[in-house]
Amino acid sequence: MIYLDNAATTVVSDDVLAAMEPYFKCSYGNASSIYRLGRESALALESARAKIASCFNCEAREIFFTGGGSESDNWAIKSAASLMLEQGKNHIVSTAFEHHAVLNVLETLGKNGFEVTYLPVHENGIIRLDELLGALRENTSLVTIMYVNNEIGTIQPISEIGKICEDRGILFHTDAVQAIGSVPIDVKAQKIKMMSASGHKIHAMKGVGFLYIDKRIKLPAFIEGGAQERGMRAGTENVAGIMGLAAAVEHAKANMKNKNEKLTALKEKIIEGVLKMPHVRVNGCRKNSVPGIANFSISGVEGESLLLQLDLIDIAASSGSACTSGSLEPSHVLIALGLPHEVAHGSLRISMSEYTTEAEIDSFLKELPPIVNKLRNMSPLWESMKTDKINI
Ligand SMILES: *Cc1c(COP(=O)(O)O)cnc(C)c1O
Repeated sequence: MIYLDNAATTVVSDDVLAAMEPYFKCSYGNASSIYRLGRESALALESARAKIASCFNCEAREIFFTGGGSESDNWAIKSAASLMLEQGKNHIVSTAFEHHAVLNVLETLGKNGFEVTYLPVHENGIIRLDELLGALRENTSLVTIMYVNNEIGTIQPISEIGKICEDRGILFHTDAVQAIGSVPIDVKAQKIKMMSASGHKIHAMKGVGFLYIDKRIKLPAFIEGGAQERGMRAGTENVAGIMGLAAAVEHAKANMKNKNEKLTALKEKIIEGVLKMPHVRVNGCRKNSVPGIANFSISGVEGESLLLQLDLIDIAASSGSACTSGSLEPSHVLIALGLPHEVAHGSLRISMSEYTTEAEIDSFLKELPPIVNKLRNMSPLWESMKTDKINI
C-alpha cells in the first residue's frame, strides 16, 4: 500500500502509541477523582498541557483539549461570535478556502445576523494584506484565516495578519491543523489569539486536538457540564489520546527541519514527474507552500475516476477535501483559486508524511501516466481539450 493521503489522516506513530498505552489498562483513572489512580491521570494531563504549551510559546493554562480540529474551529468561532454580540459588533473576515469546519460555521452565523467577508485567495492561494486591510470595518471583531491550506498546502502570512488584527483590537483565530510540524509557530510572536489543532494529522489518534486561547480573552464555555478544562469544555478527558497528542506535537516540532528537507526533495520530484504529462498544472503556489502537499489539475480526467484507478493498484490519494468526496461538487478550494469547474474536477492531491519514501514516489510516478492516458482515451471531453480549445 502506498499511502499518499496524509492531509486526510496519518498513521499513529510508535512513539504516540507507546505514550498512550499506560492509560488504557494501568493509569485509567478519571482525572477528577481524588485517589491515586485519578491523580495520576490529572498529573499526566497537566504534563501534556505543559509540553504542548512550550512547543508554541504559550502558557499551559492557554491550551484546552478538544475532540479534534473541527471542534476547536467551532468553539473558537462560535464563542467569538457570542463575545461579538456583547460588544455590538457583527462583522467577520475570513477566506473563501477555509476548511468546512470554519466555512459552515460562518455560513450559519451569516444566517443569524453576522456579516462575513470572504477574502479572495487568488490563483496562488494566498490572501493579499491590502485586501485584508480594505475589508476591515468599525464593526469587525473577528478574523479567522487558516495557516496552511489542506488541499493545496499554501501558507498564509500569519504574522502580518496577527499584527494587523492586534493593532486594531480585532480577535485573530487561525486553523493551524495542517501547519503543525510543517511551519514554525510562536503564538505570542505571531500575535495569534486562538489556534486550532488536531492530533490525527500529525500521527496522533483521531478525535483529539486542542484550542489555544490567549489568556486575556474570556470566551464562554463551549461544552457545559463538569469542570474539566477549567470549566470551558466539560467531559471526562481523553487522557490516552491527549498523552499521544503531546508526544506527537513534540515530535512534529523537533523533527520539522528533517521532515521538510526530505519532503521538499520528494515534492520537487513529484512535480517534475507529473508535469512531464501534457495538459497538467500545479495548483496553488509552488514556493509558498508546505513540502508535504502537492495538488495538480490533470485535464481530461475526472478526479474520482483517477482515485479509483489508483486504488486498484493500492495507491491512496485524494482529489479534494475528504469531507466532500462522495459529492459531485468540485473542491471549493480549487474554485476559490479561480479554476473552471471542469479543471477543478480533474484534481489530484498528493500529501506525504515523514514516513513517505522515495521508492513510493518512484512507483507512483511510474503508475500514474498509463492510468491518465487510459482515462483520457475514454473521455469525450479530452478530445476537445487536447486540441487546446480548453486551455489550462
Ligand atoms: C483535518 C482538518 C480539520 C478537521 O480536523 P478533525 O480533527 O478531523 O476534526 C480542520 N482543519 C483543517 C485544515 C484540516 O486539515
